[in-house]
Amino acid sequence: MSEGDIRLEGLVKNYGDVVAVDGIDLHIPSGEFFTMLGPSGCGKTTTLRMIAGFERPTEGEILLDGVDMSSTPPHKRRVNTVFQNYALFTHMTVAENVGFGLRYQKVGKDEAMQRVRAVMEMVQISELGERRTSELSGGQQQRVALARALVLEAPVLLLDEPLGALDARLRLDLQVELKRIQEQLEVTFIYVTHDQDEALTMSDRVAVMKGGKIEQCDVPQKLYEEPNTAFVANFLGSANLLSVEAKAAGAGCDVILGNFTLKSDSKPEQAGVGTAMIRPEYVKLEPHGSEGENRVPGMVEEVVYMGFHQDVRVRLANGDLVRADVPNDGDSPEYEQGNAVAVHLRAANLRVLDDYPDEAADDTADDADTAAV
Ligand code: ATP
Repeated sequence: MSEGDIRLEGLVKNYGDVVAVDGIDLHIPSGEFFTMLGPSGCGKTTTLRMIAGFERPTEGEILLDGVDMSSTPPHKRRVNTVFQNYALFTHMTVAENVGFGLRYQKVGKDEAMQRVRAVMEMVQISELGERRTSELSGGQQQRVALARALVLEAPVLLLDEPLGALDARLRLDLQVELKRIQEQLEVTFIYVTHDQDEALTMSDRVAVMKGGKIEQCDVPQKLYEEPNTAFVANFLGSANLLSVEAKAAGAGCDVILGNFTLKSDSKPEQAGVGTAMIRPEYVKLEPHGSEGENRVPGMVEEVVYMGFHQDVRVRLANGDLVRADVPNDGDSPEYEQGNAVAVHLRAANLRVLDDYPDEAADDTADDADTAAV
């Protein structure tokens, strides 16, 4: 087996009455870039801290390469952590910071220097070696923190919102670099963030967490295109959510929306009253009177100019409001309030979710007035 294979089995962490982690089962194979994504308080950091050994599970097991780590102290686990606050030593130079952990490994001086040099080159801070860390920008400090963890060559690297303190532009640059470094080293990365873009761009797989549990875990494209619940649909991008009734029909289902019967290629877990979801970029606006499957007449209620696209809010004939994301590409028509349109909700993109309706309503209660509703 290659190194860096992590298994979480029935993992639970309680703090008094607070259930921070509520039964997580997960297999993260060696060399994967795995992300735990979720809102504040969903248990991401607690899970990471248990893997690192800073917290003891209330129940469950953590296996590294098949071996239970519960009685292994943090410094003996072959796992390193990079935190959001870089926690660098200000009285040392960059190179001394990077090499610090090697003092506690049985590594000769020449090998240590060579490893420090190589890792500084990898994270592109070679020219900063003699600087004090107090003289660095936030992005440079995070590179030093990353180098300091990577130099120890553990098969698993835990990253807790490492880009959280950086501005948007720098975050984007470092996301690309982190992915490159992870691929180059083939180390298992377990990354914690509440930033959906970060999760989607870097990860091989993402676990969306809610209330101490994993709501859905999959590759980014599948999570985005085929969310199972309204919570996942809303957390990753925007979603139109519609109250519907679903009836099994062939390989997909019929979706009853007011007086309209639409088709969906999805097959919900259970038929009956439920929630259908379609992403705004898949809502197609066609000229008033267009006919055919899955067309619903509507009236433009509001147009929000967003630069390279327009957010067009359309009141459907059944009373729901849906958002259509229309590109400003020179070809698409410009819409105004009061325009009559036909709204095409394509069967391939209209997805009936597995939520019970009350759960979907809870998850979308804050979501103002889009159809969703
Ligand atoms: P954030 O993104 O805000 O860091 P998170 O998803 O990482 O959130 P955790 O920090 O894992 O969430 O916290 C999960 C829950 O456990 C929260 O309700 C939190 O208040 C609680 N919690 C975490 N650490 C402790 C602690 N040491 N004592 C008591 N409760 C804690």
